[in-house]
Amino acid sequence: MKMKDVKLTLRAWRLLFKVAPLYMTVVIASTFFNAASPYVTIYFSARLLDALYSFQSDLIVKEMVIFIAMEAVIKLLCFIFLRLRDYQDETIYYRIQKIYSDKMMALDYEDVDDQNISALYSDIIENQRVSGYGLLVACSTFEDLFKALFAIGIGIVLSVSLFTKKVVDPSFAFLDHPYMIVLITASMFTVAMLVSYFANKIQAYWADYAKNGISTFGNRYFMFFMNFANAKTAPDIRLYGQDRVLGPVFEQESAAFGPHSPVAKASKGILGFYTVASIFMSSLLSIIIYIYVALKTYAKAFAIGSMTRYIGAITKIFLGLSDLISVLGELKANAPFLEVVYTFLDIPSKKYQGSLTTEKRQDSDYEVEFKNVSFKYPNTDVYVLKNINIRFKVGSKLAIVGKNGSGKTTFIKLLCRLYDPSEGQILLNGIDIKKYRYDEYMDIFSIVFQDYRLFSFSLKENVAVNKKIDEKKVIDSLCKAGFDLDKMKDGIDTYLYKDIDEDGVMVSGGEAQKIAIARALYKDAPFVILDEPTAALDPISESEIYEHLNELIEDKTAVFISHRLSSCKFCDEIAVFDDGKIKEFGTHGELLKNGGLYKTMWDAQADYYR
Ligand code: ADP
Repeated sequence: MKMKDVKLTLRAWRLLFKVAPLYMTVVIASTFFNAASPYVTIYFSARLLDALYSFQSDLIVKEMVIFIAMEAVIKLLCFIFLRLRDYQDETIYYRIQKIYSDKMMALDYEDVDDQNISALYSDIIENQRVSGYGLLVACSTFEDLFKALFAIGIGIVLSVSLFTKKVVDPSFAFLDHPYMIVLITASMFTVAMLVSYFANKIQAYWADYAKNGISTFGNRYFMFFMNFANAKTAPDIRLYGQDRVLGPVFEQESAAFGPHSPVAKASKGILGFYTVASIFMSSLLSIIIYIYVALKTYAKAFAIGSMTRYIGAITKIFLGLSDLISVLGELKANAPFLEVVYTFLDIPSKKYQGSLTTEKRQDSDYEVEFKNVSFKYPNTDVYVLKNINIRFKVGSKLAIVGKNGSGKTTFIKLLCRLYDPSEGQILLNGIDIKKYRYDEYMDIFSIVFQDYRLFSFSLKENVAVNKKIDEKKVIDSLCKAGFDLDKMKDGIDTYLYKDIDEDGVMVSGGEAQKIAIARALYKDAPFVILDEPTAALDPISESEIYEHLNELIEDKTAVFISHRLSSCKFCDEIAVFDDGKIKEFGTHGELLKNGGLYKTMWDAQADYYR
């Protein structure tokens, strides 16, 4: 085991202590009492046995009471802490998952979008699925390590007198020779090392199986086919009899877990040998220990009751030693998986480096300026925005129009820092937006994207996106967005979709869009950005939204992307995007007068609206 592996493991334990401090403490207490419990039995039963041999009834009664009382106390402590530990144990998996989901949330959006990072994350999850490699194993080894250390420690304390007590019968004096201690300890070490060596070999075989992607692939394959029960894929699987494919694959030599798989063959061969050899050597060691202790008892070094105690203690030391060695082996095997975990957790988040506060202003006196902004998506060569210069005034309404793919949504993504510009700067009140605290900066935007998502929670949770919900404001926002609340059987408590509540409502595209708009209104941020929010609305709802647009947005700054130019008429300024550039800029009247791209688009749509 290398220093690097130790460091990796210590970091995992520190991390776990941070997310679950009580878990670690309870685990230590629980393993201590559990390790001590058999010794309490061994120690006091030995005393009782000696008392029985003394045939003094007073002593027998006294030892019996002590034995029962000590048993009761230690077992009670064991169960109390075991119960506490189990309670903590139930949640540790979720706490580890939360480490990952928190990291996911903290990642820059462009990283979430990155294939390599998704692959890294799914590696971590797949490794975890194979015997919990990664943080879960780090967690279980923490417990195993303490178990082993306590077993060894208490065992040593209890067996010191086995070697110090001298035999009475001189013909057995050789049993007291210091070489005997060396012999017993050396054979214990040797067998423990060998047993663990074999156990580690088995462990390493499985780790390799996971690392080489064989079992990962096998698991994925099976997970995929487990989808028989998935309503979405079941029709196709049934119609085409895809289950027939699984059988032959399972039988193939290359299948990860089938009867002809490499692991099945290894189990019959070398892995099987390791197991048998371990059992054989442990039994041999037990025989040696039994003979030694029995001879010392026979030679009257101690009373017969102590025999059980010494055999018990020595056996526990031996088991503790082999556990210790296998824990170390497990830590070593787990280290490469922890490295993958840290590679993910250590991805820097550029977005969170800013520290300026955006100072929520009552007057919403914000001004945003794009200065020579150009942008290409990560890992692409094409500029989708080219030298954009635009400034929007407080309280103004800006419409962005243009053909599909002209860069409108990208412009919004840069504005709300899902991506940073490749060149140029975006300024908020004259300061580069990168310098602001990311979370505070995000607070000043209410955005409805074209591909917004609602969640299978209640309507009010979808709108408020918060634990504290102002129900009146939820209803108000839904009304402003034109949502018909009367149709919801439980009002704002109605669940959306069927994932969580089977009585949930499957809202239509138009209704969903209104809920998304209500969510943006509820947030009450100074900037309201609507990216084609009306695409799924019927013409009546659409015109309702447009008519109320001023009322909806009140004195906020609005950026409004739309295909339907009739909605842009109401805006103070209109930017016409074409091929990543702002081709035209001005009011509806000015742009019509100019007779450019806007006029062409307007004329084309005017026919449609007439
Ligand atoms: P619009 O909103 O005007 O329809 P977009 O801003 O969505 O246009 O897209 C502008 C260009 O950027 C398009 O050519 C599109 O293919 C490209 N694009 C959009 N998203 C990505 C992405 N995540 N990665 C690479 N290219 C993208």
